[in-house]
Amino acid sequence: MVAKVIPVEDFDLVIFGGTGDLATRKILPGLYRRMLSGQMPKTSRIIGAARSEYDADAFREHVHQGLKDHVDQSLLKKRDVDAFLGQLDYLQLDIFTDDGWKALGEMLRGDVIRAFYFSVAPSLFGEIARRLVQFKLADQDARIVVEKPFGRNLETAKALNAELAECFDEKQVYRIDHYLGKETVQNLMAIRFGNALFEPLWNAQHVDHVQITASESLGVGGRGAYYDKSGAMRDMVQNHLMQLLCLTAMEPPSKFEANAVRDEKLKIIKALSPVAPNEVVRGQYSATEDKGSYIQDSENPESDTECFVAMKVEIANWRWAGTPFYLRTGKRLRNRLTEIAVVFKDPPHSIFDDTGTHLRGNALIIRLQPDEGITMRMTIKDPGPGGMRLREVPLDMTFAEALEGEDIDLPDAYERLIMDVIRGNQTLFMRGDEVEAAWNWIDPIINQWVEKGSKPIQYDSGGSGPDDALMLMHRDGRRWREIKQ
Ligand code: NAD
Repeated sequence: MVAKVIPVEDFDLVIFGGTGDLATRKILPGLYRRMLSGQMPKTSRIIGAARSEYDADAFREHVHQGLKDHVDQSLLKKRDVDAFLGQLDYLQLDIFTDDGWKALGEMLRGDVIRAFYFSVAPSLFGEIARRLVQFKLADQDARIVVEKPFGRNLETAKALNAELAECFDEKQVYRIDHYLGKETVQNLMAIRFGNALFEPLWNAQHVDHVQITASESLGVGGRGAYYDKSGAMRDMVQNHLMQLLCLTAMEPPSKFEANAVRDEKLKIIKALSPVAPNEVVRGQYSATEDKGSYIQDSENPESDTECFVAMKVEIANWRWAGTPFYLRTGKRLRNRLTEIAVVFKDPPHSIFDDTGTHLRGNALIIRLQPDEGITMRMTIKDPGPGGMRLREVPLDMTFAEALEGEDIDLPDAYERLIMDVIRGNQTLFMRGDEVEAAWNWIDPIINQWVEKGSKPIQYDSGGSGPDDALMLMHRDGRRWREIKQ
């Protein structure tokens, strides 16, 4: 059986910043794969709009190179590549001048969906929005897609929301968090709300704690100076980790629909307790024999920006009171790994005492990176003779085996999200009030570091972060899962 791909409606997509890194690595290769799957109509058009001095042919050449670099070679048949490049066009334009906008209007068709992807620095978002309105390029049905970072604190996020709201209705604004486009994240919701099995257990009575880890093995590399202006709290926790926390903790929405889901996520953010200073640990990686330290990479000897954060988060509501959520993210750690682990309580009593095995609680592990999958840690009897010896095994809950033989076309996060923009489905995008509420909770944590002038702790590259982060769990009688692939 071949999974059925339903084509989206015909569209014109303008990518502001179409020659930039994100467009070249993610957006355009993603669209190419959607074309291959038959989801993107053959008549749809993608217009790159950027400052780069290209004409349409030079842009196609640039995109062609991007496909070679970022799409599996086996998918690059000449006929397909030519067809895709044929759907591209380009307009050189500087967002801050009046030139080019009229020409852009002439390139757009009147009878198809219009989407505008702002793949440029956030300082340009407001200007693009105003120009789109000024030159009447966006009708009531047009959509705009904005990238992270969405502000650097509550004040700037509010200002950005206000700038967009002057020109567009909230239902036209798609704030991307690509973690939400991951297959497994949606599977988390399917597992929670599509099975009666988990929901009765999904609360403080049965869940001991939840750990959410997003670790990178690489340092900040050549992006050090840029990264140093944000840090792990702004770059990872405020958006990706909080979104994962919300989806894990939220109440069942009445239906899987944009505002119903986003209302429930917002309630969780608003229920987060303030974080005490001793419940957050932040760090910077140190140098190895052949690699520089964070301080060297950031080119800022005085840097007090963290590239590692671990924290204990409490949700003050009926379902979760007493069950902490531990969040951890960092650079230059042992492995690249993103996972949510829902750790259930230990069995209340062991009838197998004489085996000497301590019965650990089950754990549901939702893995987003490096590969996607869901496993359940179970205790079973060790097979064979030798008495009642127990052991832990992972029960694979991904569909890979169950659906073997089916031709499943799994889009990556960006592909899925761009198609959702065209479909007009905002479920997997952040609403303005959600982003503001997240900053409202994060700001006091960052402000307290600034006020105290506290410095991040140095940690060994290739490990699991500062010892203080381990202590954060140890003092609660818990421990982090190993950062292994
Ligand atoms: P980039 O610097 O590689 O590209 C910027 C693009 O904007 C270029 O095409 C450039 O020509 C265009 N541009 C700049 N100023 C312009 C102007 N005045 N008028 C017209 N065009 C102009 O940036 P990027 O890495 O592609 O990032 C784009 C956005 O995506 C940023 O908001 C960034 O924070 C966000 N983002 C990027 C990544 C990534 O992996 N690169 C990941 C997440 C979010």
